[in-house]
Amino acid sequence: MSRRCVIIGGGLAGLAGAIRLAKAGFHTELYEKNATLGGKMNELTLGAYRFDTGPSLLTMPFVIENLFKEIGVRLSDLLEIRSVDPLCRYFFADGAVFDASADERTMQVNLKNFAPDDVNAFEKFMTYCRRIYDLTADAFIFDSIHELTRVLRLKNLRTLLHIRQLDAFRTVHQAVSRYFSNSNLVQVFDRYPTYNGSNPFNAPATLNIIPYVEYGLGGYYIKGGMYRLIEAMTAAAKNVGVRIHTDTPVSKIEYSNGRVSGIRIHQEFIPAHCILCNADVVVAYNQLIENQRRYRNKLNALEPSISGLVFLWGVEGRYSRLSQHNILFSENYRFEFDQIFDKLEPPTDPTIYLSVTSKSDPEHAPADGENWFILVNMPYLTEGQDWKTIVSTMRRLIIKRLEKLGIFVAEKIRVEKILTPQDFLHRFAGNRGSIYGISSNSRNSAFLRPPNRDRRIKGLYFAGGSTHPGGGVPLAVQSGKIAAELIIENENN
Ligand SMILES: Cc1cc2nc3c(=O)[nH]c(=O)nc-3n(C[C@H](O)[C@H](O)[C@H](O)COP(=O)(O)OP(=O)(O)OC[C@H]3O[C@@H](n4cnc5c(N)ncnc54)[C@H](O)[C@@H]3O)c2cc1C
Repeated sequence: MSRRCVIIGGGLAGLAGAIRLAKAGFHTELYEKNATLGGKMNELTLGAYRFDTGPSLLTMPFVIENLFKEIGVRLSDLLEIRSVDPLCRYFFADGAVFDASADERTMQVNLKNFAPDDVNAFEKFMTYCRRIYDLTADAFIFDSIHELTRVLRLKNLRTLLHIRQLDAFRTVHQAVSRYFSNSNLVQVFDRYPTYNGSNPFNAPATLNIIPYVEYGLGGYYIKGGMYRLIEAMTAAAKNVGVRIHTDTPVSKIEYSNGRVSGIRIHQEFIPAHCILCNADVVVAYNQLIENQRRYRNKLNALEPSISGLVFLWGVEGRYSRLSQHNILFSENYRFEFDQIFDKLEPPTDPTIYLSVTSKSDPEHAPADGENWFILVNMPYLTEGQDWKTIVSTMRRLIIKRLEKLGIFVAEKIRVEKILTPQDFLHRFAGNRGSIYGISSNSRNSAFLRPPNRDRRIKGLYFAGGSTHPGGGVPLAVQSGKIAAELIIENENN
């Protein structure tokens, strides 16, 4: 009889893990509490407007291609993945505008026009970022850093030997400001730690791996919307035999004598040889796993990542000043992060991310309209935050900031949906509403992040943004791969 593995949660990592486990011969049942799969990567239609509600930029698409390759499917037969150019249009507080591009030549030309003194700095910075990628990716992204047998693999030992070159002793901001003299460019390259929910003024400069991922390997969009990926993964999961149950919240992970025995759904007990939990590790230990108080306290002491406030606006009109991906920067980035991470309060001058998929897919909005996805960084949930007031203040600030660019939408918003950190808590069970799991604000964050194989309860594995290797689309998918490989290695008899 095949081994029975239960997956808790149908986000990217749960689906990626489920596909591999079913392919490896496990009887795989996936339970998702919501009506739709995809977790934070989801979609919504409001009237004639269609929105992605989570990720809008795809990096490292080869991680997804590899997943499909393993089950004999060519991803390009299913999805059209297009590179995005410009990667992002940056609007600065001083009125300057800069288009960033992953195309080397275009980037050179744009830099020459925007900050001629920093053209060489960009080249040098990329060489440095690439070096970090080359040294860390195998050990820190593609493998487990918590399993001794894997750490001792030759390629991973190389990383340990060059530990000083990982630049973990400076912050991202310190490193970036050594390369660039133009303060607007410093702000651009300070932005990347937010991709995993961290603070550039605290996060180790090792996170400068992210600009290489974006400029060196490219930024992409999935034709039809990012949710097409979840549909493709769902179909693949069903094809390899994963049984999927939506609208089915798991209420408990059962274990005895230090080994998992199954899960509970309401009162029903479902036996399992092993469990792959895609729910946030901290939330799982707080809500699904009894006893284990010491470890629970340790997990709760880890700093959650950033959260966010999302406005989905179906607007009337077409706005040629905007590209598909836009950032409207705040005036004082350090102050903004102090507010978000230290004071745990909403920023008074927020940096605004605005993405418009109807620029690529006109059918996502009516002929005379655009579908705007707006994200502002927010602190994780804490007491005393009044989200009703915060939402109305932010809405006003966003409209005012757009007016500075000559974009007047106050009277043009035809449909609207707002997602607050409370939604990230309640809908996806994100720890304190965080979007990316645990923050990477300290030098040893990568090692503090909970491992994919639980050390306390045998047969329990974790995958997703809150565990290794962290948040973001490719990393969540990779996390599902690492956890599934550990299960196949350890639970197959
Ligand atoms: C607004 C926003 C913008 C983003 N932008 C980007 C971007 O542009 N690029 C990028 O790479 N990343 C982006 N991200 C991050 C990316 O979406 C996440 O890192 C990734 O989707 C996380 O996947 P996951 O599998 O770890 O977790 P999740 O998506 O959180 O999936 C976990 C699943 O488990 C389910 N679950 C939880 N508890 C239970 C339970 N008890 N029983 C059953 N099911 C349960 C949840 O409902 C959920 O479906 C963004 C995220 C957000 C929210």
